[in-house]
Amino acid sequence: MSLEPSQRVQAVGPSGIRRFFEIAEERDDVISLGVGEPDFSTPWAARDAAIASLERGKTSYTANRGMRELRQAISGYVDERFGLEYDGDDEILVTAGASEAVDLAFRAFVDPGDIVAIAQPSYISYEPGVIFAGGEVCSVPTREADDFRLTVDALEAAGAADADLLVLCYPNNPTGAVMSKADLEPIAAFVREHDLSVLSDEIYAELTYGNETDRPDHGGSAIHTSIATLPGMRERTIVFNGFSKAHAMTGLRLGYALGPSDAIAAMNRIHQYGMLSAPTTAQYAALEALESCANDVADMVAQYDRRRRFVLSRFREIGMPCFEAAGAFYVFPKVPDSWDGTANEFAEGLLHEEGVAVVPGDVFGSGGEGHLRVSYATGIEDLREALARIERFVTDHA
Ligand code: PMP
Repeated sequence: MSLEPSQRVQAVGPSGIRRFFEIAEERDDVISLGVGEPDFSTPWAARDAAIASLERGKTSYTANRGMRELRQAISGYVDERFGLEYDGDDEILVTAGASEAVDLAFRAFVDPGDIVAIAQPSYISYEPGVIFAGGEVCSVPTREADDFRLTVDALEAAGAADADLLVLCYPNNPTGAVMSKADLEPIAAFVREHDLSVLSDEIYAELTYGNETDRPDHGGSAIHTSIATLPGMRERTIVFNGFSKAHAMTGLRLGYALGPSDAIAAMNRIHQYGMLSAPTTAQYAALEALESCANDVADMVAQYDRRRRFVLSRFREIGMPCFEAAGAFYVFPKVPDSWDGTANEFAEGLLHEEGVAVVPGDVFGSGGEGHLRVSYATGIEDLREALARIERFVTDHA
């Protein structure tokens, strides 16, 4: 047959998240706590900069790697915020969303048969990305008992010592878990010992929150630590970040990769043929976002944190245990003990009976079974109403 999808495409199913949205979209009374994007609008200064760039006719391609001015601004920003030192000339690649950067990295560094270890539950694009690149996935489940932080025990148990690459995503989608410097150090030692490379998706790096309880093992700090800042890690790590989450710019499609110059050149080899350059208008918005929107980001982070505390305390009241998620904009409660079924059935029942959309945790890979991903990137009034409906659903089925 003509246009027969390739075996790689056939090996990957449709997104489990989309399926829930399609049901949710058929009704107009649904409150969605299912989406992974900010409910805030892009800060005005960034929007104005995009509009001004259009008015000035800035609608051509940029350099393949992105506008030099933007790369310099990214270089300054990641250094100041996270202590990541990357040269804007040859160690930064501006991409069409972090998504493109993730896809490029799999295609640039995975040969057929290479093993890619993925700490799970995790963002849904990694596994398909590995398969599209011809690699093999080694799932490394994390556990609620460890607050969904990755441990060396988990890496060893999953056989990750034999992997070529390790994919990390902290702060994590879907669990909201964060990894402190102390948590990352043994992981970095394992990576060096077994000579792995790391792809570290840090798109939620700005969205970290103080813990409610005193957690000395978290260093008492809500500041994000990148694994690339640990000894011996820079030369073997690619960091992904972007403007979708912290700057509420999902539709503008702008992200970037940081890495050693040879690795960035390898990714750019694919990018220059496949994409030419990231969207120009979005690059102007991003430049302004870095130059003048730090206060907008801080405001959004403060609001996410208030919602996070509210949602965590309500889930505990309802009898759905929930570990202290301290990053991104997700919590990851367990379905209640009284529920006689899977998390998938709970999510379907909740959607049909109460019109609240959440995503079952197993969509995100091993370790997510029995949990739900609940996004609090939604206004507080909707959160209040959604939690009331969840409480009623739980009571009705007790
Ligand atoms: N990584 C993670 C962990 C995400 O949650 C998302 C968005 N849901 C992305 C990457 C994709 O981001 P972008 O919009 O920059 O492509």
